[in-house]
Order: sequence, then structure tokens, then C-alpha cells
Amino acid sequence: MIGDKARRDGAPRGRPAARAARRPPWKVNGSPTSADMINTAIAINSLKDSQTAATVLRAYDFTVAVNHTNSDSTLVPSDGSTPQIDWDPNLAHQVYSADYKAGIQSPAMALAHEIAHVLGMDENQATAFETQIALELGEPTRGNYQLVTQEKIYVENSTEHSANG
Ligand SMILES: [Zn+2]
Repeated sequence: MIGDKARRDGAPRGRPAARAARRPPWKVNGSPTSADMINTAIAINSLKDSQTAATVLRAYDFTVAVNHTNSDSTLVPSDGSTPQIDWDPNLAHQVYSADYKAGIQSPAMALAHEIAHVLGMDENQATAFETQIALELGEPTRGNYQLVTQEKIYVENSTEHSANG
């Protein structure tokens, strides 16, 4: 179709929702194992059970690069190209609620937090976004961005979590 190439190569590629309708809003970069691919699909599909997350997943483009280095981060290029999330599908987090109840948040919830950064949110806004999704999915919440420990909590399944208890 005339114009297709220009749309793919040029910076303005249509509204985000129009892009999302043409292809899935995520793909996995790098050299993921089959377990990584499954864990990524499971995480994304679980987030779709949250209305808040599902709305964003329909409207925004990003790619996921799987790592196993206990780190999650998001790069939003200033040239307008597709944001990339670096995500460890086995990294769960020990969090504490506003009233200091401990719980384990799943790697999927960490992915939700990174998706907030795709939207340009700062850490406080991203934590609020993540908390809304956690409430919708029945995962534990953290009272603020700081209420998380740094050590790796390894889980096989990207949706594994515990309650605030
Ligand atoms: Zn963050």
C-alpha cells in the first residue's frame, strides 16, 4: 500500500491506538528461552485482567527484552521510537503496604510498573499505577515507591505472589 513504508520509517506513525490495532502492542527482544517467552505471555495476559492495565496495553507500543540479572528498567527513546522494557521474568519483590504488612509482588506486577514508565510516569506515579493494578488483580501493594527490598526473590512463574499479611 502506498504510504506504508513512510509510516513505518517516519517518526509519526499514527495514533497509538491505531498502531496497536495493526499488531500486538509488545514483542520480546533478545534471545529469550521458551520459558521466558511463556512467562512473558503469562504476565501480559494476567495484566489484561486488570481494566487499568488492559486499557494501556491496547493503546501503547513497547518491546520487552528479557534479562536474568535481577533488574527491571525502561528506556523511552527521545526520538519517538518504540520504548523498550528490560525485565526479569523471575524477579519478584518483597513489598510493604502503607500499614507495613509484608507481601510478595509478582514479576508481572514489576512489568506493570515498567509499563507506567512507557507512559512517561515518574516513580511515584508509576507506583500508584502499579498499586491500582495490584488492587484489581488481588496482589499485595506497597505503600510508596521506597517500600520494597532490593534482594532478588526468585519465582518460576511470572504471576507468583503472596498477599499483604
Ligand atoms: Zn520505576
